Amino acid sequence: MSRYWSAVVHGLTPYVPGEQPKLDKLVKLNTNEHPCGPSPKALEAIRAATGDTLRLYPDPNADALKAALAKRYRLQPEQIFVGNGSDEVLAHAFMALLKHDRPLWFPDITYSFYPVYCSLYDVEHRTIPLAEDYSIRVEDYLPRGDDRAGALIFPNPNAPTGRLLALADVERIVAANPEAVVVIDEAYVDFGGDSAIALVDRHPNLLVTHTFSKSRSLAGLRVGFAAGHASLIEALERVKNSFNSYPLDRLAIAGAVASVEDEDYFQESCRKVIATREVLVSRMAALGFEVLPSAANFIFARHPRRDGAELAAELRKRAIIVRHFRAPRIDQFLRITVGTDEQCAILVDALKEILGC
Ligand SMILES: *Cc1c(COP(=O)(O)O)cnc(C)c1O
Repeated sequence: MSRYWSAVVHGLTPYVPGEQPKLDKLVKLNTNEHPCGPSPKALEAIRAATGDTLRLYPDPNADALKAALAKRYRLQPEQIFVGNGSDEVLAHAFMALLKHDRPLWFPDITYSFYPVYCSLYDVEHRTIPLAEDYSIRVEDYLPRGDDRAGALIFPNPNAPTGRLLALADVERIVAANPEAVVVIDEAYVDFGGDSAIALVDRHPNLLVTHTFSKSRSLAGLRVGFAAGHASLIEALERVKNSFNSYPLDRLAIAGAVASVEDEDYFQESCRKVIATREVLVSRMAALGFEVLPSAANFIFARHPRRDGAELAAELRKRAIIVRHFRAPRIDQFLRITVGTDEQCAILVDALKEILGC
């Protein structure tokens, strides 16, 4: 009954998330979840928070989580914003900080939620092509005379390429655009990059977003955060408090705090994924795949002689799900999450069979 829809809804093209099939026994390598599972201390904290207190609203400011994150990243709690997944944090950033008279700049190949938020919040944008090798060219993000961005956003490592931009290059972009907010979406940085959170004290225009969904293996809990100058955080708080006062529930706050406090488990589980990734990359290369250098918990790979969509379909027949994007420049690639060693071995065996080698 679309006649009841608002004009805004008629104009929306929603983001399509990776599928979450209801079947067991799938080798699920399509949405970059962490194979190790959350910290046992996080699970214990969630269990402990499950009781009569669920009757009560949670802390609207999630002060315990802000304090834990501030301590972990050596910031003040006023420099931290928390939300219901980093997608929500990003959504608020689009409205609060990225909508200006000049367009928002982001790469042509990047997280496909960005153009969706642009259409939701009516943010004008310009896409900047990645280099031939799918890297971000720093020069393309620097102002040229009066031609400069109203704001900038990109993931680092980029998604879905997995390619990392060195922290010094991130800082060059931030420093060269003092009039514009620069959002660095670090959903995958814990798998091989240096976080730009270390730079937020020096650059009042830098906002860095993180998620608990990937490196902390808590995608089901929906927790994300942003770090930046207190005035950027205040802008996000204003939008949040005009939208939903209690985005993080009691279980999410308890689990997220315990996860942040379990640094050893975090480090060890990320190390495991990195080690598995390196083995997977060399096995894929041995099968003839071109694999982009990855600093993430996924790889982006194409085969010189086999079509990307066809490979994804053949894997699916074998109950292995990877992500394939029907988009210009990347439709020959597969984006494959780094699973357990066993899942990666099953994938490589299936590819051997499909390729006949
Ligand atoms: C997964 C992802 C997010 C969002 O994660 P949430 O689950 O909403 O916290 C944000 N940015 C990129 C680039 C991602 O891949």
